[in-house]
Amino acid sequence: MKFVRSLLMGGAMAAVGGLAVWCSLPSAMAQKEAKSEGTKPEPKKFEFKPGQEYKSGVEWPEPKVVTPGPTSVSPPADAIVLFDGTDLSKWKNGDKWIIKDGEATAAKTGISTKDSFGDCQIHLEFASPAVVKGNGQGRGNSGVYIMGRYEVQILDSYENKTYFDGQCASLYKQHPPLVNVCRKPGEWQTYDIIFESPRFDADKKLTRPGYVTVLQNGVIVQNHFELHGGTFFDRPAAYVPHGPKAPLDLQFHGDAVKFRNIWIRELVDIQPVMKKDAEPAK
Ligand code: MG
Repeated sequence: MKFVRSLLMGGAMAAVGGLAVWCSLPSAMAQKEAKSEGTKPEPKKFEFKPGQEYKSGVEWPEPKVVTPGPTSVSPPADAIVLFDGTDLSKWKNGDKWIIKDGEATAAKTGISTKDSFGDCQIHLEFASPAVVKGNGQGRGNSGVYIMGRYEVQILDSYENKTYFDGQCASLYKQHPPLVNVCRKPGEWQTYDIIFESPRFDADKKLTRPGYVTVLQNGVIVQNHFELHGGTFFDRPAAYVPHGPKAPLDLQFHGDAVKFRNIWIRELVDIQPVMKKDAEPAK
């Protein structure tokens, strides 16, 4: 998107002049390198002529075709289904939870995927207990621990006040949800999460923070939030270096929160190939 925006801005600036002018636009490759190295891309010069098609010289691979699921909550063809209502065999401690009528109910301990994931898209559905017990953090508490470290809170926050950066759909103790879009206790709710893992260099230094976007019941509640680090109950957020992939955890916090339809897609950026004659149109 940033690349497209820079193209549009560059074009607009040139159009203001109304004549053929020299413009500077960062190439996609230069932008990619800059992103990984944290340096400013070298601008590439080209001669702008009104009405003449601009060609970037970047050769993108064709995005692969993925068959979507029959509804927006159904797993698309390239998703890894982590719970389809039958078993939790893809989770460590999955046998500790109760599976009945296509639903998994949290019990005894948290569960953790056997596979590891980095950048990803997660879909899951949850419901807090229909019979309300407790209040604040003690009511319908669970959580989605991305990479086992970054909690998107699950809580019954329907007419149940708690600290705002700990209510449902918060990035725990880091950022409240933009709105409270919780359904009533016992009703099924959806989370769709887009996660970009933080990056660490060989010296274990943070080179790029993690980012989280969350839609709850189809509403954006976290908009590309920049993580301050791991989410903790008893200390401030802080990054602890880790690898590019780690398991996804679901928390057991003493409450019988139910889950269904859990799937994940790994996000892999598509890579451009710079043509040998990559000079943009003149
Ligand atoms: Mg929790």
